[in-house]
Amino acid sequence: MQYLKSQLSKINFELHRNPRLELPDGRFQYVPEPYKAVFLLQADFELAWAWQFSKSSEQPLQKALQHARTERANIPHILQLCDRYAIPITWATVGHLFLEQCNRSNDVAHAELPRLPFFENQYWHYKEKDWFANDPCSHYQQAPEWYAPDLIRQILDSQAGHEMACHTFSHIDCSDAHCPSGVLRAEIQACQQAATAFGVQLRSFVHPAHTIGNIAVLADLGITSFRTDYGNTLGYPLLHPGSIWELKSTLQMNFRSHWSIQYHNYRYKKVVDRAIKNRSVCCFWFHPSIPSDFLNDTFTHLFQHLDRHRNEIWITTTGNYFEWLNKQIQ
Ligand SMILES: [Zn+2]
Ligand SMILES: [Zn+2]
Repeated sequence: MQYLKSQLSKINFELHRNPRLELPDGRFQYVPEPYKAVFLLQADFELAWAWQFSKSSEQPLQKALQHARTERANIPHILQLCDRYAIPITWATVGHLFLEQCNRSNDVAHAELPRLPFFENQYWHYKEKDWFANDPCSHYQQAPEWYAPDLIRQILDSQAGHEMACHTFSHIDCSDAHCPSGVLRAEIQACQQAATAFGVQLRSFVHPAHTIGNIAVLADLGITSFRTDYGNTLGYPLLHPGSIWELKSTLQMNFRSHWSIQYHNYRYKKVVDRAIKNRSVCCFWFHPSIPSDFLNDTFTHLFQHLDRHRNEIWITTTGNYFEWLNKQIQ
C-alpha cells in the first residue's frame, strides 16, 4: 500500500498535481522585484515534546527521547550547511526549549499554566495524568532532551540569519475543538517570556501537528503568520482577520523508504524550479530529527540548487517575508 502510494505520488508529481499550482489572486504583489519566487524553510524544533503522546508507538516516551537525541545530533550539521550556502531557517521552537531548567512546585510542573482537557486527535492520545507529567523538571545538562538553550544560542550565533519562531510552549493541540483560547494564550505568553532572555521576539507560528485553530489569539499576541498543510501548494499566502497571514506548506522534507535519495533530490529541486516558473511563494518544512544521512544528502543538494538560483529567488525567513509583505499592503 505504502509502495503504491509512493509510486502514485511520482505520477501526480509529473502531472503537476502535487504540489498544486495556484494563480495569483491579483490583490497584492507577493514576490518582490527583481525576484521571481520566495523560498522559506521551516524547522519544527521540539526535541522530546512532540512525540510523548504519539499513537504510532507502543512506547511513545522512548520514541520521544530517541527523536530528541537524533535532533540534537543533527542540528549542528544543519547549521553548518546553512552557513556554507547562506540559507536561513525559521525555527518553530517549542517554548520550553528556551529554558535552562525548571522545577516542580507542590509536585506540579509549570503550575501557572492552564492545561488542555483530555482529548484524542489523529496523532495523539492524552487521556490520563498531567500534560507535564514527563517534564523532568531538571537542568539542560542533565536532561538535554527537554531543554535546548545551548542549541538556541548556536542558532542565534550563526551567520545565516535564522529566525526563532513559536511552536507553543509544550507542543499542545491548538484546535478550537480541543484547546480553550486561554490555554493557548498562556502557552504563547510563556514562550514570549522565555524568548525574551535571548532578545528574541516571536513573530511566526506553527501549530503543532497542524492543529489549526485559535487564530484570533495568535493575531492578538503579535504573531504575523501561521503555516497550514491542507495539501502541498505552490501559491500565495492568505490574509486573515486581525492581519495575520496563512502560509501554505509546499512540501515536507521527509524520508520515504520507497523513493531513492536521488529521487528525493530530483523532486525537491524541481519544486524550486516550478516556484520560479510559477512566480510562487514556496514553503518547505522538516523535523530536524529526520535520519542524518538523508538530511546531509538532500540538504546539500537543495541548498546548492537554491544558491545557484539566488538571483531569481528570495531566500529569507518567514518573519522577514511577512514584514515585507505587510509594508506592501499598507
Ligand atoms: Zn519544565
Ligand atoms: Zn511539532
